[in-house]
Amino acid sequence: MMRPCYPVAELLGDGIGPELSRAVRGLADALPIRLEFRPVDLSLEGRRSRGAAIYDEAVEVIESCRVALKHPTVTAEESPNAVLRRRLNLSVIHRPVSTIPGVPTNFTRPLDLDIVRIATGGTYDDPGRPIGEDGAVSLRIVERQPVREAARYAFNFARKTGRRVTSSSKYTIQRATDGLFERVVKEVAQLAPEVPHNVELFDALLAKIILTPERYQIILVLNEYGDFLSDMACGLAGSLGIGASANLGFDSQAVVRVALFDAAHGTAPDIAGQNKANPTAIFLALAMLLNQLGELTIGEALKQTTLDLLLEGVRTRDLGGSETTETFTRAVADELRRRLNVNSPAPTASPPPPSHPQP
Ligand code: ATP
Repeated sequence: MMRPCYPVAELLGDGIGPELSRAVRGLADALPIRLEFRPVDLSLEGRRSRGAAIYDEAVEVIESCRVALKHPTVTAEESPNAVLRRRLNLSVIHRPVSTIPGVPTNFTRPLDLDIVRIATGGTYDDPGRPIGEDGAVSLRIVERQPVREAARYAFNFARKTGRRVTSSSKYTIQRATDGLFERVVKEVAQLAPEVPHNVELFDALLAKIILTPERYQIILVLNEYGDFLSDMACGLAGSLGIGASANLGFDSQAVVRVALFDAAHGTAPDIAGQNKANPTAIFLALAMLLNQLGELTIGEALKQTTLDLLLEGVRTRDLGGSETTETFTRAVADELRRRLNVNSPAPTASPPPPSHPQP
C-alpha cells in the first residue's frame, strides 16, 4: 500500500538548526507516512542574501503546505519569528508542558498541561505612555475574533484527546476585557457540550495547579496570563530546554489555516556543529505537527517513544547522558520503527522495500 504523503514546509535556521534538520529527516524515514519537506533557508546567510524575498517565499510555502516545522534562527536585523507571526497572522500559541519521567525537577508531582494562549492583545500590544512625571497608562485589548479562534482550537483539541478545558482570567475585576473573554469562551463551550469546561480565577489557578496539578489539562488564557503560566509550568516541569509549541493562524471561520511548530530553545551557538544538540524539542514539535495532520496515533507514538527513551537513560549530554544527536536520533527512529511496525530502510543500492504495513 502507498504511504500517505503530506507536504511540510521546513524553515531552516542557524546554530544547531542544520543538525536538527538532519535529525528530523532521519526520524521521518521511520514513519509509516511520507513527509515531503519543502525547505526554505531562513538562516542569517539566507536572509541576508535574499532580503525580504525570502519571507515572501516562506509565507507562500507555508500557506501551500498548511503545516511548517521551524528550526531556531538568530535575531539580527529582524526576528524571523516576529516577521512570520505578523505575516501569517499567527494569533494563538499552543504550548504543551509536562513533567518528563526521569528528568529531575524540584516539583515532584506529575504535570501535563496544554496551555492555549491568545498571542495578540492583552496588555502587550500597547507599550503605554507616561502621564506627567509620576504616572503612566496603557491599554488592555481583548477582541472577540482571536478569543473565538483560541477557544475553538482548545475545544476541538479537547474533543480529539478526551481532555478537559479550564478557562482562566480575572473576570471579577477586569470585567469588560476578561468578562468578554469568558463570554466568548462560554459561547464556544456551548457548541461542544461533551467537553468538560470550568472557569477559574487566574490567581487561584496558579495555586491550584501547584496543589492539585492532576486536575488541570487544557488551559485557555489571554496573552499575558499565558506568558506567565507557560514559564511557571516550565519551571515546575523542569523541561525548559525540551519544550515545543504550535503557532496557529486561522481562517474567517476560526478554523486552523496554518500551523507552525517550533522548539522553545534557541540556536545554541556554543555547541553548533558538534553533534551534541538534543533534538527532543524538535521531535516533540514534529509530533504536534503529525497530530495537526490528523495522524494522532503516529504523533503520539513519536512523543511516547522519545519520552520512554529519555526515561530509560538514552539521553544527550545536556540531560546528563552520553548520546550524540545522531545516536539519540537513531535510537528513537529504531524504536519507533519497531513500535509502528515499519521496515528498516533497505541498504543503499538495493531496491526499496516493496511495501510498508500500516500500524
Ligand atoms: P539564542 O540567541 O538563539 O536564543 P542562546 O544561546 O541565547 O541562543 P539557547 O540557544 O536557548 O539560547 O541556549 C541556552 C543554553 O542551552 C546554551 O548553553 C545551549 O547550548 C543550551 N541548549 C539550547 N538548546 C539546546 C539543545 N537543543 N541541545 C542541547 N543544548 C541546548
